[in-house]
Amino acid sequence: MSKDTVQDGLVVSMDYKLTVDGDVLDSSDQAGPLQFLVGYGNIIPGLEKEMMGMKIGDSKDVVVQPEDGYGEFDEEAFMDVPRSEFPGDMQLEEGMELHVTDEDGNHQAAYVASFDKESVRLDFNHPLAGAELSFYVKVVALRDPTEEELDHGHVHEEGHDHH
Ligand code: ZN
Repeated sequence: MSKDTVQDGLVVSMDYKLTVDGDVLDSSDQAGPLQFLVGYGNIIPGLEKEMMGMKIGDSKDVVVQPEDGYGEFDEEAFMDVPRSEFPGDMQLEEGMELHVTDEDGNHQAAYVASFDKESVRLDFNHPLAGAELSFYVKVVALRDPTEEELDHGHVHEEGHDHH
């Protein structure tokens, strides 16, 4: 199969811009093109699906609905935790990200929704849950992954493994 289009098992370099409600939240302007290995769940499914078959130099605007992005906002995904379970000297702030471990030992990100002297309300929704994501993407390069990258299922930027 010809390897000049975006397809499973290739590494794509892309310029991108993410806009939500008219605000640019992220782009490759500063950090340069983003690389990802196609077909391994490294980017949100709604975007990856729309990029399939694009050629080097192709650009596209893609609107991703919440179900193909960071999920729907879940009104139930909140938990009240007694303030006493947090270190006494911990400075809490609304919106701050915490890493919590549940009874099964799973690590999860949570955000401080609100707090008072007695308790802290944690929000387990992703910050972009429920958001319609508008992407501009441009394919800059395509290459084969190294054996190690294929084995790990992700890109090693400049030969380094960040995991
Ligand atoms: Zn790796």
